[in-house]
Amino acid sequence: MSRDARIRLPQPAPVTVRVPAKVNLHLGVGPRRLDGYHDLATVFQAVSLYDEVTASPADELSVEVAGADGVPADENNLAVRAARALAHTAGVEPAVHLRLSKGIPVAGGMAGGSADAAAALVACDALWGTGLERSNLSALAAALGSDVPFALHGGTALGSGRGELLSPVLGQGQYHWVFALARVGLSTTLVYEELDRQRHQGEAVAPAGPPDPVLGALRAGDPVALGRVLANDLQPAAVRLRPQLRHVLAAGQELGALGAVVSGSGPTVAFLVRSAAVSISFASALAGLGVCRTIRRASGPVAGARILPPDSR
Ligand code: ATP
Repeated sequence: MSRDARIRLPQPAPVTVRVPAKVNLHLGVGPRRLDGYHDLATVFQAVSLYDEVTASPADELSVEVAGADGVPADENNLAVRAARALAHTAGVEPAVHLRLSKGIPVAGGMAGGSADAAAALVACDALWGTGLERSNLSALAAALGSDVPFALHGGTALGSGRGELLSPVLGQGQYHWVFALARVGLSTTLVYEELDRQRHQGEAVAPAGPPDPVLGALRAGDPVALGRVLANDLQPAAVRLRPQLRHVLAAGQELGALGAVVSGSGPTVAFLVRSAAVSISFASALAGLGVCRTIRRASGPVAGARILPPDSR
């Protein structure tokens, strides 16, 4: 058969997955474990700041990143690692081009890299037709990083272990957030090291307890009660490394936020406000104070990594 006479199989269509950022409504950090991780008791909420990951057919694995600086476009990219891990598990070639469109702040404590890993798992699974069970995808996700399972899951969830063991939270209501983004990111590793340093000077660290007040406020669907009990054990360490955060937190409180907390390891600061309308006026007042680089509004909970219908792009 001549080359031209060979039948060409149709290429699968590209798959785009949209994946949300997270904020921790409660982040309790227990003592450092022997494996270097810390046991956490956390409540995640997925919020409407999104990355999109498009997986297209290709002869080999490649990646491009749009919309952000400081994201590696090589084997260090978490989406690339996720695609390789899925290909290995499913026994297929990791043949894909990944395009990451970043809307989640980089190194901002909102799990943008983890989100991309979750999105790449879902997108490559669909592109390659590997058809892995959700439980297999969750196990792969947990091996890739502590926050990756939650990016798959979305909604509001209780996280234990190093954050990878999830159980859904019974809650009601939609919550409105304003996020203050910093000019320069913070390394999660350095923030945990700073926390350990601060703790070494004090008493023995208690295990991270269950976040009952946050769970109660979510059950009641009460944003005022939730605002009062937002808590993050990493906040003092993040503030120590980035003293400017003190001004950002104070500015939000002055402007009447229901609650203000550093998101994850920071430096993004999350402000809970009463409504979508309030979030608009709050964001513009905060911008006027000039204490941060950029401001974003979002709401939660939203769904985890989901394939976008082809006509919605
Ligand atoms: P977390 O909240 O999970 O601790 P983060 O939101 O603070 O993480 P990320 O945006 O996930 O931080 O990025 C942390 C670092 O990971 C970046 O500085 C970058 O070098 C690296 N990285 C690898 N892959 C990605 C990716 N797909 N998107 C963003 N950063 C990535």
